[in-house]
Amino acid sequence: MPRVVSGEIKRTLFRDLFLGRLRVDGSEVYPLISPSELASLEPTFTQLRKAEDLGGVLRLRALDLLKPRNDMSLLLEARLVEQLGGADPSTALSFIAHHALGRKLVASYGTPEIQPTLRDDSVFAFAMTEASPGSDASQVQTYAQPEGDGFRIFGRKHWVTNGLFATHFVVVARTTPSQPGNKPRLTAFLVPSSPEVIREPVRSDVLPASGVAEISFHGALVPKEAILGEYGKGFRAVMSGLSEARLLLSAAITGASIRAYSDTIERLNQRRAFGRPVGNFPSVQERVAVLLSETFALQSLVHLVAGIGDAFGTADPLERGLARLAASRISARVLDATRELHGAAAFSGDVTQSRRWADTRALALLDGSDLALESFVVLEATRELRKGGPQVSLPPLPSPLPEGPKGVVERLWSSRHVSPTEGAPGCRLRSLELLTRELGNQVRHQFTSHGAEFVEHQHAHRRIANAALELAVWLSVLIRVQTEVQRVSTVGAERMIDAANLFTGGAEERVRRQFEHLSRNEDELRDRIARRAYTDGTYPFDIVG
Ligand SMILES: Cc1cc2nc3c(=O)[nH]c(=O)nc-3n(C[C@H](O)[C@H](O)[C@H](O)COP(=O)(O)OP(=O)(O)OC[C@H]3O[C@@H](n4cnc5c(N)ncnc54)[C@H](O)[C@@H]3O)c2cc1C
Repeated sequence: MPRVVSGEIKRTLFRDLFLGRLRVDGSEVYPLISPSELASLEPTFTQLRKAEDLGGVLRLRALDLLKPRNDMSLLLEARLVEQLGGADPSTALSFIAHHALGRKLVASYGTPEIQPTLRDDSVFAFAMTEASPGSDASQVQTYAQPEGDGFRIFGRKHWVTNGLFATHFVVVARTTPSQPGNKPRLTAFLVPSSPEVIREPVRSDVLPASGVAEISFHGALVPKEAILGEYGKGFRAVMSGLSEARLLLSAAITGASIRAYSDTIERLNQRRAFGRPVGNFPSVQERVAVLLSETFALQSLVHLVAGIGDAFGTADPLERGLARLAASRISARVLDATRELHGAAAFSGDVTQSRRWADTRALALLDGSDLALESFVVLEATRELRKGGPQVSLPPLPSPLPEGPKGVVERLWSSRHVSPTEGAPGCRLRSLELLTRELGNQVRHQFTSHGAEFVEHQHAHRRIANAALELAVWLSVLIRVQTEVQRVSTVGAERMIDAANLFTGGAEERVRRQFEHLSRNEDELRDRIARRAYTDGTYPFDIVG
């Protein structure tokens, strides 16, 4: 079953948004999992529902999910992790750390000598973060001291998922001693468990079964063959692992959101107040409708990114970064609403909505904070532009959609039985086109007005990234609905069209708000308030006269 039929989806679908280009013509096909493929995972899903008392690595072992999954497509893997995230976010986190930041890095960057560590019973952990800010890898203190033909590793790592169970650690270390101001050349090593590797559990309120630990390395000896990738260029390997992890984290967060939605519907169906089901109150119905449409929209992006990865065989860090950022933003809204709809029950019981909210927020930190990811996405999307320097001539903005029934886009869409002026029903094609052009304009304006300083302009990164992620989700919804309409007709796709309609209306408002922020420019005001806040140190307004 082809993932994206005949490659009509352009590889640069999401990258083009930043240039103001909407490259869709109605021929794109949304990736679907075939029933036979899904059946291959059914035994795992059945077992997953049973092994509820286990979590993290122990649950992965019980489900036989520690082994390599070489024959699994990205889309199927995303589906698997979505289910893990719904059942238990700790297990999803352990899976991601073990596979994306462990197994995959060793398989892709490890020397032939260390490939045997990929045996089925190995458990991998990824150790980069230290007591210093995790967002700033240049502050890594862990030191790989050259000795003979190898290295001795000294240092202490924090927040190592699977740390309590790991047989092997991917460790990011400097290979020159730390000196004030010097930027380390980082190298990644595979370090096996040994008496020189000491683990201590991290006391945390979230993701309790994921075996998060502090790991101290007291001179663990590794040969030079333990280096992953090139000496002094460990960041390349690390970034590729984080990019892998980002798609899976998005899938796990989507799964947690779907589960929160289902639990909420179950509860609202049972609960009665003032003589009628709570779910019948209009303000509850409003929230339920938004919950469903937002969750559907997020899943649409995550599966599309996985399908594009399968179809083109390569991972685009921008697509994955956008998916992870969208997962964080949308799940925050969804899980906040599901907590509210549960009333006090959100805070009592075994697995509460409140706990699911906290677990999901924590999942969205494994690969770095959202704030850092916003800048990453924008700098990645403008990499080619920035190479040309501030004077670079930007590609011309595309002309607006041709009006009337004769336009190319309209013709294509109408030949595919969807509305010629709106594209797939419920998806507001024209608004998407106009807002995409506006995003291109905004990127162009920010880039030309800040020049080389653009890389430092986090205020602009934030607005651009948040507008772009909404447009990326919107575009995915459009392609999914368009495919569904062709598969089962407009009548058959009615529920999906309704969900799309609600999501795209909300997305339009959110995107416009980001653009307003960019043009109103209250950044100086915010900077001033924040600077004074640090000087004050405490809350500055008192009512004592
Ligand atoms: C559940 C969980 C599992 C984890 N598992 C692992 C693991 O297996 N291996 C591992 O190595 N690490 C792991 N981590 C650590 C994670 O990678 C870090 O928490 C993350 O990189 C952020 O670092 P920090 O917590 O030190 O925050 P800090 O770097 O101290 O950041 C604090 C705040 O400052 C902001 N900030 C910092 N720098 C910038 C900047 N340049 N621009 C804008 N804002 C900025 C951040 O956005 C954030 O809001 C895990 C974390 C969690 C919560």
